[in-house]
Amino acid sequence: MSNEQLENLRGQLDDVNMKLLDTINERARIVQEIGQVKSVSGQKRFDPVRERKMLDMIAENNEGPFETSTLQHLFKQIFQASLELQEDDNRKALLVSRKKKAEDTIVDLKGEEIGNGSQKIIAGPCSVESYEQVYEVASAMKEQGIRLLRGGAFKPRTSPYDFQGLGLEGLEILRRVADELDMVVISEVMTPGEIAEASEYVDVIQIGARNMQNFDLLKEVGAVDKPVLLKRGLSATIDEFIKAAEYILAKGNENVMLCERGIRTFEKATRNTLDISAIPVLKQETHLPVLADVTHSTGRRDLLLPAAKAALAIGADAVMAEVHPDPAVALSDSAQQMDIPQFHDFLQSLRDSGLYKL
Ligand code: PEP
Ligand code: MN
Repeated sequence: MSNEQLENLRGQLDDVNMKLLDTINERARIVQEIGQVKSVSGQKRFDPVRERKMLDMIAENNEGPFETSTLQHLFKQIFQASLELQEDDNRKALLVSRKKKAEDTIVDLKGEEIGNGSQKIIAGPCSVESYEQVYEVASAMKEQGIRLLRGGAFKPRTSPYDFQGLGLEGLEILRRVADELDMVVISEVMTPGEIAEASEYVDVIQIGARNMQNFDLLKEVGAVDKPVLLKRGLSATIDEFIKAAEYILAKGNENVMLCERGIRTFEKATRNTLDISAIPVLKQETHLPVLADVTHSTGRRDLLLPAAKAALAIGADAVMAEVHPDPAVALSDSAQQMDIPQFHDFLQSLRDSGLYKL
């Protein structure tokens, strides 16, 4: 074959490639339109019956030289890429996404702005046990200029025989202490039925890790006028976490904070594995404030400080940690709560490191 012939054939091939490029992109645009029509009518993106028909059509019309199986394999790749394209379009449209809203969402908790660039500390006991217990922790916090008080009244416990929380009485205690010391109450609700009553006492509704995909609960908190602190599920991917938050925004509540609290992995040295890189990923993908719970992620008192430093350094909007006047007798999470002197040391070390500036 002469050089001239080769160049000629290569020229033809380039033309065909350009036609294929145009055709594939034209196909992609049609797929995008189909995606929009389906999303409006609530239909699933993947339609196996339709895909089977397209593969059969290829088989019926194939005149070679490619084998039908080879072509079907190639087309399957195109179908798959098209599905992903539809998915990307949907993600672009998520209310939580940066693509939808470029600027950071700032959640105002009675004057404490979360997500405004100044990194905060959220503290308090794991469970509310008594007025005195909460007051002691809250006073120590107040001394440090920290107003964001967490405490569990409805406790999601692994064993039904463990302390289940004081319920309404616990919320009353939190409210009383918060009112006395001008603080902000963050507490978990576990069922849609608890929301209305809890809303009378709490400033922020926490959705715990075990309920991250309790979609009825997410829809209900989406419909109330209270900020929500949503924790990442024990085995939830970042994508699932983002979509759980989307449930809340989709119902109209935009005051959502995401909290990385460690995920289940094979590693046993810590209670969970703090997925530290989830923090910048969530900050990039969403406009919501991102928090790090160093207590439930590590499950180890000795790791609270390094985990908090890491979280602040990587850009968390707040760090959550549990504090109890006497952790040894705490009714839950005894191994990882700090006592009050440890809490003061923790803050001192964070300030000394230059990472915590308040
Ligand atoms: C809590 O913060 O009290 C709690 C139970 O945490 P998680 O839902 O992350 O386990
Ligand atoms: Mn706890």
